[in-house]
Amino acid sequence: MRTSPVKGPRQIPASHPLAGKKVWIPRMSDGSTQIFAAMLRSLGLDAEATPPSDERTRALGARHTCGDECYPARVTMGDCVKILEQPGTDPGKVAFFMATGQGPCRFGQYVPLMKSVFATLGYAGVTILAPACETGYSDFGPASHLFARSAWRALVAGDLLLKCLLKTRPYETTPGDADAAHEASVADVCRCLEVPWPNDGVQMRKLQASLRRARRRFRMVPVRFDPERPLIGAVGEIYCRLNTYSNQELVRLLERYGAEVWMSDITEWIWYANADERRMLKLKGKRISGQMLRSTIRTHFQRQDEEDLRALFAADFRGYEEPEDIGEVLEFAEPYLPAGGALGEMTVNAGRSIYLAKKGVDGIVDISPFTCMNGIVGEAIYPLISKDHAEIPIRNFYCDETQSDLERDIGIFLELARNYRRRKPWPRTLPHFPAEESGGERASGTSAAPEIAECYPRTSSV
Ligand code: SF4
Repeated sequence: MRTSPVKGPRQIPASHPLAGKKVWIPRMSDGSTQIFAAMLRSLGLDAEATPPSDERTRALGARHTCGDECYPARVTMGDCVKILEQPGTDPGKVAFFMATGQGPCRFGQYVPLMKSVFATLGYAGVTILAPACETGYSDFGPASHLFARSAWRALVAGDLLLKCLLKTRPYETTPGDADAAHEASVADVCRCLEVPWPNDGVQMRKLQASLRRARRRFRMVPVRFDPERPLIGAVGEIYCRLNTYSNQELVRLLERYGAEVWMSDITEWIWYANADERRMLKLKGKRISGQMLRSTIRTHFQRQDEEDLRALFAADFRGYEEPEDIGEVLEFAEPYLPAGGALGEMTVNAGRSIYLAKKGVDGIVDISPFTCMNGIVGEAIYPLISKDHAEIPIRNFYCDETQSDLERDIGIFLELARNYRRRKPWPRTLPHFPAEESGGERASGTSAAPEIAECYPRTSSV
């Protein structure tokens, strides 16, 4: 039975602060950002990902920061000012979506920094949309109850598509096929998630159908697997490891030099944040509290949704299984950076590195911004982790636009990874490239990324 979307977009009231505004989502990760923007459109917002970063981003970011900020803040600032300086832009009709956080990391300073710079530049009317779980995402008005679950599904879907891309691209026989499959799949998921479906169950079924089409596109990419190609795990600061502009396309470079990359998901950070929230509630004596109950319910639904979506790719991601629970990662980190004391991405990266080593990767890169404590602490800890884990090569790559001799460093690192592969104690489960049921044998010589029929009505914006 065909299910139709609800009639028209979910409108936010004219009196709502976001009514009539264009909401820009800074482009952290290609694919996930567009999907996230599409999900916001289903709530009735006029949302879009910022255009890809470029030279103008760099110039504006450098001009409007003083050097104390972290690199992701500079790139984000450049991208936002680039939007505002477009001729005819009315700052009063512009909003920027900014996730935010608390703690020692400078992430919590992004919003005050942006407000201050926008005011100095005469863009004081710009809205910064920084929805918070603690306030029930009230920024979205009547659609606030829909945000949390749809946003989570959008992030899981974006992660899955990136995983498909990174698993396929190094082995494609025709350059560009995997990128084309990724682009078509992102567009397909966007068309699915920008529609306000009548309830969570229908949205899930539609999203699963969209991801099945994505799976088919990737399965139809002709590939020639090479078991000699080293598999490199990528950890690091979430923005720099995922933002290809910031990391100077490090993943593509690694691929060009003969590697395959297993990138850490965006959702890993959400799982860590959930675990830390529960740890803090216990510390505050709120083991039995309304907040703990809300956290438990949210975690339950997130796990359910993630399982429902990941299950579609079980055969495709054999050998690339994610940890059952973030607790597994934090346990690995415990002897080096205990989660209760060190906190943050450095803890996750330490634990994840060990997890990846045990899954049989041949080397690990930590992609982090220069001057960020996460990368710096990680760099101090990795030699210990490497020593305790068969001397697996772990290398920090810092991002700040001044990286020189990147190709030389990658070449040396991959040589170490190839040497390690011959003696590593943890064998890798070789990947499976299932043939599409209706597509027959997977082989070279056919064109990839076919347009696969789907039909969603487009929503209009607020
Ligand atoms: S982790 Fe580092 S780079 Fe990322 S937002 Fe925090 S301070 Fe900045």
